[in-house]
Amino acid sequence: MTPTTADAEHIAHEYWGLDCRAEPLVGYEDHNFLLVTDAGDHWVLKISREGVDEQVLDCQLQALRFLETSPVAHLVQQVLPATDGRCLIPFETGVGEPRWVRVISYLEGAPLANLCDLPHPFLEEIGRTLARLDLALEGFDHPGAHLDHAWRIEGTHELRQYAEHIPEPAQREMVERHFDRFQSEVAPRLATLDHGVIHNDANDYNLLVRDAADETPVLAGLIDFGDCAHTVIIAELAIAAAYLMLDRDDPLTTASNLIAGYHSVRPLMAAEKGLLFDLIVARLSTSVTMSARGLDLEPDNQYLQISAQPMWRLLERLANIDPDEATRLFEDACAPSSTPVRSADEIIAVRRRHLGRNLSISYSQPLKIVRGEGQYLYDDTGSRYLDLVNNVCHVGHCHPRVVAAAQRQMAELNTNTRYLHDNVAEYGLRLTSAFPDALEVCFFVNSGTEANDLALRLARAHTGSKEIIVLDHAYHGHSPSLVEISPYKCEGPGGEGLAEHARKVPMPDPYRGPHRGADAGEHYADEVRAAIAEIEAADHKPGAFMAESLIGCGGQVIPAEGFLAAAADAARDAGAVFIADEVQVGFGRVGTYYWAFETQGVVPDIATLGKPIGNGHPMAAVITTKEIASSFDTGMEYFNTFGGNPVSCAVGLAVLDVIEQEGLQQHALEVGKRMIDGLRELQARHPLIGDVRGLGLFIGVELVRDHETLEPADTEAERVIDEMKIRGFLLSTDGPFHNVLKIKPPMVIQAHDVDEMLEALDEVLGALE
Ligand code: PMP
Repeated sequence: MTPTTADAEHIAHEYWGLDCRAEPLVGYEDHNFLLVTDAGDHWVLKISREGVDEQVLDCQLQALRFLETSPVAHLVQQVLPATDGRCLIPFETGVGEPRWVRVISYLEGAPLANLCDLPHPFLEEIGRTLARLDLALEGFDHPGAHLDHAWRIEGTHELRQYAEHIPEPAQREMVERHFDRFQSEVAPRLATLDHGVIHNDANDYNLLVRDAADETPVLAGLIDFGDCAHTVIIAELAIAAAYLMLDRDDPLTTASNLIAGYHSVRPLMAAEKGLLFDLIVARLSTSVTMSARGLDLEPDNQYLQISAQPMWRLLERLANIDPDEATRLFEDACAPSSTPVRSADEIIAVRRRHLGRNLSISYSQPLKIVRGEGQYLYDDTGSRYLDLVNNVCHVGHCHPRVVAAAQRQMAELNTNTRYLHDNVAEYGLRLTSAFPDALEVCFFVNSGTEANDLALRLARAHTGSKEIIVLDHAYHGHSPSLVEISPYKCEGPGGEGLAEHARKVPMPDPYRGPHRGADAGEHYADEVRAAIAEIEAADHKPGAFMAESLIGCGGQVIPAEGFLAAAADAARDAGAVFIADEVQVGFGRVGTYYWAFETQGVVPDIATLGKPIGNGHPMAAVITTKEIASSFDTGMEYFNTFGGNPVSCAVGLAVLDVIEQEGLQQHALEVGKRMIDGLRELQARHPLIGDVRGLGLFIGVELVRDHETLEPADTEAERVIDEMKIRGFLLSTDGPFHNVLKIKPPMVIQAHDVDEMLEALDEVLGALE
């Protein structure tokens, strides 16, 4: 009996309560159906063929459930239990044995086999993913994983009996030699290797990719746990290598890249490296033999005939390669990098002795973060954290397109702006075109500090004055010129006070500051006017008013409405320029606009950019008017060794592209709203939350002990940070009283991350109160 779509729809409704439309999907083992529910969700319903062992199916489902909370959860299908809680349901067809039915999620993606090119970084990423999968499966076992089947690598030589189905004598003899070598040389060495449950079939049709048409593919997932087995763990890597090497110009390099990626996450033992080549050959031999046998049983099966061809071609190429030579290549690929691996305590000891002591470390139990991907960070034990504070890796940690852009350009050329290069021209054009028309000249530098330092020079060159007005608690950089005008530093521990040429005005904080209510913005602007008057009274000329468009270190403060525009006007009326420090807040983070100054209805004379601009690559920029730029053109050359180099510009361009192509500004608006709404909902129930403020994904949550006195709940904030860390969420505090939870995650944070974070925060606040 072949199940029909009507059967599938009936089963989905009866057992899973899903009202849906079913469409047949291809499947070799099962009868598969895509279920599209009335709500638009996609699921896959799998109906087994007759005579399939329940244990085998249950093993697949339990493996998937085991992975649900692992770092690879998003790359494998999720199991949907039926309404009665069962995951596997026997379905009586009226003829023969019952069929087993299960429902799992539908993973979007195209088979990797469709890709023509497998770039090195992508192969390494596949390797790392398989290693993470194998690590995640550690500790999982199931009787169904121990049943015998032809695709378990340790039994490879037992398939010699089927070699007689291979019609071509030379091919048959080659495969028989492989089986013999396997029996005498390989099989006896397998027992000493690590064993565990693995997927066991990461072939190029089970590996799915997103954007298959794009030059840098992204792995979307791994499907079909149908062959999962308890076996030699390293077979996972060998099997994937065997398929990825098919029809490649240089199959050993392909394998080496895959192996290098795998080894970087789950280091290979010497014995494993030494057997990889043989295990790759073993898998290919198994596959061609099983195809030949299948073809004898089903002579019309075109699929079997076609799929074996690339395998034969690869086997014939590998026959000319000395296994020891291949092993040497694989060993080179795994060669330890020049960085030895140290424990957290060892690293702290080295830092204490050899690095400046005033470098701080987050958390009382510091984290050793070893990998980042999207909105997540992973520590050395494999634990995953949602990164809620890193506004540098703006488009996501290690975004593949940004990484690829850097790698490509780094491999081609890196010089400086004294040569003509397309990248710097294109980037200069693209970056300035993101600004209001008046801001049309840019300078490339290497850090936020350098950008602000250059901004000071520009302002001085243009106005002839060093006199500057800054906001209380502001931070603009770590160089002498900036520390002395950053109250956050020069008025804090070790500080020497504000420079003589600097004056501070209160932060325009509508929640805690001296002016609150409807006209607070105007009152704060009056403070700027008063500072200007003081400068003039001392017979000086104001040179600049400098402020962050939204205030970061000061406690995630959204300036009182109208403040920046009025303060900038006052500064300009007095002959000064307005410098907007956008180092933390630019590039679409606020959601409604690309730049945060736009939310205040003001155009600065100079804007400084940093952090997100290169997604972690050290680069920054200053954008200004042509008048200010020409005042700076005094005859002295402006040269910056690294600023604006071809690699940095390639990275900067990739970041702009990703923000646009992935719609991240709009995304920040939507996900940010979800976060702010959720936090306001928590505020209604948790007295510790005094204020929730934010624009897009720039959000602050101010904790107070008393809503009248606003007594800062600083120790409570510290507890929240620690408790959230334990639950897998990285947050930190800011503000003069360290009582503001700062939230400014990579812009690729998803709605489900927000929901999970809110749930955890609810629990943590509840326990504290
Ligand atoms: N301005 C602001 C607003 C900042 O937050 C920072 C860094 N925290 C800087 C400037 C200095 O940037 P960098 O650390 O890249 O020198």
